[in-house]
Amino acid sequence: MCSINDFEIERIQLVNGIRSRGITCERVLDAIGKVERHLFMDYRFVKKSYQDNAFPIDCGQTISQPFTVAYQTQLLDVFDNCDVLEIGTGSGYQTAILLQMGANVFSIERQKGLYNKVISRFEECENVKIIFGDGYLGLPQYAPFDRILITAAIEEIPQTLIDQLKIGGKLVAPVGKIGQQTMVLIKKTGSNSTEKSTFGNFSFVPMLHGVDNDI
Ligand code: SAH
Repeated sequence: MCSINDFEIERIQLVNGIRSRGITCERVLDAIGKVERHLFMDYRFVKKSYQDNAFPIDCGQTISQPFTVAYQTQLLDVFDNCDVLEIGTGSGYQTAILLQMGANVFSIERQKGLYNKVISRFEECENVKIIFGDGYLGLPQYAPFDRILITAAIEEIPQTLIDQLKIGGKLVAPVGKIGQQTMVLIKKTGSNSTEKSTFGNFSFVPMLHGVDNDI
């Protein structure tokens, strides 16, 4: 059994490692230092929870590398009580980081098996809605959002998602083909205008269309 303080030293070491790789936002580093990643890991890899690597979870997907989570979260620039749409819940680790930073999170996952697992992880948490569905469609019923975070590789950012962003809002996504993507930050500057900035290269699992009901 794991207790609350399990892996505390490993978490401090993980934060130090991520800081030395260039993450400067103290709020992000603080969240990485607090969220218990071992609660989101597949049981086979729990001992490796605080290594800065991605690991397999169910349905052929992965829990993101902590550095990548920190990088995307830093670019996203979340603030207290902001509404964040997350596409690709996966294990829920990134979701937990956003919650730890005070966001209200709406997270969509297309794999039923992962969705089923993750809803039980957030049962007691009020500021989160996990939705089984296709992230390409966003969540018009809860839009507009202050922030949108895509955690799977996408070839092009759909206008549908930009339409669901508030003016002044930000969207972060790894854009490109399977294998390598560039991290992109879109700022919505007006109802029909955006500003785009590009950052480093990453490799994410692909964003797929439709849902997968396998469990
Ligand atoms: N950040 C997560 C990992 C995300 S991996 C973590 O730390 O655990 C990317 C996730 O996106 C996978 O779970 C995959 O099933 C999901 N995904 C892929 N295409 C999707 C889509 N169209 N809609 C919603 N989720 C999608």
